[in-house]
Amino acid sequence: MRRRILAANWKMNHGPTATTGFMRDFAAGYTERPDRDVVLFPPAVSIAAARAGSRRPDGTPLAGVALGVQNIHWEDRGAFTGAISGPMARDAGADYVLVGHSERRQLFGETDEQCAAKCAAAERAGLTPVLCLGETLAQRERDETAWVVVGQLRAGLSALTQQELTTSVIAYEPVWAIGTGRTATPADASEIHRILRSALRDLIGDRAEDVSILYGGSATAANAADLLRAPDVDGLLVGGASLTAASWLSICAA
Ligand code: PEP
Repeated sequence: MRRRILAANWKMNHGPTATTGFMRDFAAGYTERPDRDVVLFPPAVSIAAARAGSRRPDGTPLAGVALGVQNIHWEDRGAFTGAISGPMARDAGADYVLVGHSERRQLFGETDEQCAAKCAAAERAGLTPVLCLGETLAQRERDETAWVVVGQLRAGLSALTQQELTTSVIAYEPVWAIGTGRTATPADASEIHRILRSALRDLIGDRAEDVSILYGGSATAANAADLLRAPDVDGLLVGGASLTAASWLSICAA
């Protein structure tokens, strides 16, 4: 059975001090729900603060809340100044890693081949990769969306075993919707998620039903419930609206 996942991508926001404050407010307002997992992706330098703050006032860990990093290198160690590896992220307390976020693809030139190597590195380290994919506005206007996202899916997952494929997470994030205030309609998101699931079915048969496919792109507390009701939308990856505890708590409760 696939899980409902609500994931917060903080991008380059919230250092350790801000993370401690966020976690205090989040922990105070968080009600765990058995039907969903919450995953926070702080900057890597803030993982320890997020981990320390992921506790109730009585010190017990918040159930259903996990941490992830926003990127890893495809190698496990070595001379890669400024990079962090899967084993390091795991050691710091991460369970998940974002791979191929459109900002990494567009601003840092990340390729499908690198995404595939990063997904494999994640699996080696015991991290669940969240493979991000999505079309640009120009590709959408040329009617290339299905071709683009299925290509990114196949390429990004190409180094994984069937079992690893089944436990990976996919995030459909149309580039034109990220940070723009322009959200895909629930029907649009649903249609692309259905296409992605059908591509997964070609790779792993019926086990495609177990893979969570998240939507990302200007999701907010105001539209989260509608998006989550859409068929084949198994959760959300949220940037801007995850940066304050109040907004994020509303989305977690949607
Ligand atoms: C993201 O960066 O993954 C994202 C979805 O951002 P936003 O919610 O701000 O559009």
